[in-house]
Amino acid sequence: MVQGAEAKMKGSTAETVKVVVRCRPMNEQETAHGHNRVVDIDVDRGVVELRNVKAPETDPKKTFTFDAVYDWNSKQLELYDETFRPLIDSVLCGFNGTIFAYGQTGTGKTYTMEGIRDDPEKRGVIPNSFEHVFDHIARSSNQQYLIRASYLEIYQEEIRDLLGKDQKNRLELKERPDTGVYVKDLQQFVCKSVNEIQHVMTVGNQNRAVGATNMNLHSSRSHAIFIITIECSEIDDKGKNHIRVGKLNLVDLAGSERQSKTGTVGERLKEATKINLSLSALGNVISALVDGKSTHIPYRDSKLTRLLQDSLGGNSKTIMVANIGPASYNYDETITTLRYANRAKNIQNKPKVNEDPKDAILKEYQQELARLKAQLSQRGVKKKKKKKVSEEGGEDEEEEEEEEEEEAEAAKDEDSEALLQQEKELEIEKNRILNDQHMIEEEKDRYLTEIKHKEAEMVAAKDAQEKLLNRIKTMESKLLCGGKNIIDHTNEQQRALQQRKHEILEQKKREREMLQLLEKEEESSCEIASTFSSLQAEVEAKTRKLKKLFAKLQSVKQEMADLHEEFCRDRVDLQHTQNVLTRELKLKALIIENFISPEEKRKILSRAFFDEDEDVWKVRPVVRQTSGTLKRPVSSASRRPTSEYAKMQASVDHNPRYKGENIMVVELDPAVRTTRDWEGPVVAPRVSAALEAALRPLDEDLNIDASLATLNHSQAVKSTRKAKGKFKSGLRPPTQLPDSSMYPKSRGLVPK
Ligand code: ADP
Ligand code: MG
Repeated sequence: MVQGAEAKMKGSTAETVKVVVRCRPMNEQETAHGHNRVVDIDVDRGVVELRNVKAPETDPKKTFTFDAVYDWNSKQLELYDETFRPLIDSVLCGFNGTIFAYGQTGTGKTYTMEGIRDDPEKRGVIPNSFEHVFDHIARSSNQQYLIRASYLEIYQEEIRDLLGKDQKNRLELKERPDTGVYVKDLQQFVCKSVNEIQHVMTVGNQNRAVGATNMNLHSSRSHAIFIITIECSEIDDKGKNHIRVGKLNLVDLAGSERQSKTGTVGERLKEATKINLSLSALGNVISALVDGKSTHIPYRDSKLTRLLQDSLGGNSKTIMVANIGPASYNYDETITTLRYANRAKNIQNKPKVNEDPKDAILKEYQQELARLKAQLSQRGVKKKKKKKVSEEGGEDEEEEEEEEEEEAEAAKDEDSEALLQQEKELEIEKNRILNDQHMIEEEKDRYLTEIKHKEAEMVAAKDAQEKLLNRIKTMESKLLCGGKNIIDHTNEQQRALQQRKHEILEQKKREREMLQLLEKEEESSCEIASTFSSLQAEVEAKTRKLKKLFAKLQSVKQEMADLHEEFCRDRVDLQHTQNVLTRELKLKALIIENFISPEEKRKILSRAFFDEDEDVWKVRPVVRQTSGTLKRPVSSASRRPTSEYAKMQASVDHNPRYKGENIMVVELDPAVRTTRDWEGPVVAPRVSAALEAALRPLDEDLNIDASLATLNHSQAVKSTRKAKGKFKSGLRPPTQLPDSSMYPKSRGLVPK
């Protein structure tokens, strides 16, 4: 194939990222508000000019040159044919390709990538590429294709499979030394037609909208990547099968406008930093790539840059579409986008055809198909053999094995025919037995059960065969072949037309390149000395030259000032983020210092590690010491420590209460006393003397009144006094007085 050969020739030569700029028309709102257009586009020269309305009139316009530029009148198909078609062609030949849409929200990224699908004129790159790919396959000859599609989204540094069943699932990025970075568990759908792949895209878009609370906000903050993998197998002149795999990434990036971080804290700040992380990482990667001095390219800084590592400075053909708005109020964003795009122009890629990669699914498909077909033919052969064996009485047929290959193809039909034949034979046999009058019943039964067995066997064989055939059919339907209508006249004409179109576009491109080169030459040629006829002429010429150079100097100075200003703004932003993060860090440190014991902290720190793949801190599980198994300590005397009393009780009494007493002997902690003994009110000595005097006769009265004949006086007084004294000190009165049986028994102090 011509394209294939061409591609191989082009393979592994370095080429730069192709950058095109597209400016959308003024929208109704902008026109209604009377905004000025500050963007001028020269399509022929590939130049964009930008005017700053805030700067003085004398200031020169900012000029940028790109591979191609498209103004507000550009048509979707024009863009496709001129810029994207060659890239898709390369992917069909086995190159990797990437198309990025970059720019401020509302400048036409989604319009360029997806467009309006129901309107054929306004369809974007993605639907146009679907048509292109399947058209190409239909027109191909002697090739087999397998097309797969996936759709994912990166939002706040989390990857979501837009075709996955569970939309809450977050996917991880993994890396393999042979195939590079890939998304683990990302769904891939085999697509057999334009309709199928469009359906895949519709489903993905629906999921994207469902997951978002505010679709506009969400889509302007997330990156959507549609991936088409095209595998193609072709048999070369020597009959060897070659597989080429091209992967096409179609990326609709998040809006590039500055997400103000000033004044945001907590979750909002986290969100703002994360949204910008992938985009700023993309910017850093581009800077590092074109810098020439950087040895480290920070691909690992974000999910997006890791995933598209190949597209930036790797094995891929890449096109960046920088979308801009024309109105004056977008000036700042427009100039930033143009500068970004201007830098990206200088990225060098080294695309090459991916031939016979290890992970080609097409190869697996082909192998599986061959295996299934062999299985089918084996069945056919076996059956034939069986038949022959039964016919010829077990004779070995050697030639049969040689025939196997040829038979494989015809096996499908033969097999089903043989089954039908067998079915008929069995039916006839059954009828014969049933109608046979000479056979005894028992014999008849035996024959009939035999026939039944055979029938069951046949049904099972039929089933298995059908399953096998179905499997082969579905697998074959997934592999796409062209060439069915290759002789079709219109097809040929179409191809010729395409070729012509392509040539014209190539011509246009070359013209633009020549113009750009000429301009460059002109600029540098001012240095070349020329002879002048008069002094006046020389002065005039040199003044002109001086003016030109002065203007250039001014614009460079202005550019420097602008860049400085931009950097200052970025620095303030970064400083703010740093301050907020430091403050948060201090709070965490405070919590750790005050609420987590140093021992625990040390343990956690020793187990914590940073997982680069997932970009999170993790804690290793506790590793148990395996040297010697741990045993619980045993008590020296018995299984459980127990008191002597409990042991004694347990031996005489089988009450379970004494089975496991006193597991631990704990001394009681006497409580610190918090009360004082009651002391009567302090009575002045004179008063107390008076009181004593007053009380004494009463004491004697008591003695007199005591009518116990057996108690002598002195004893009675003594005992009363003793009791009084003892009561005073708060102790229990004696309960055992001589002859206490005469008194009622004391109950003692009643516990509270
Ligand atoms: P983005 O994806 O960059 O946020 P959109 O693609 O959603 O922007 O575009 C915003 C609006 O501008 C849409 O209504 C779209 O139809 C319109 N638009 C963008 N580019 C063009 C264009 N080149 N021609 C016509 N309309 C456009
Ligand atoms: Mg968009």
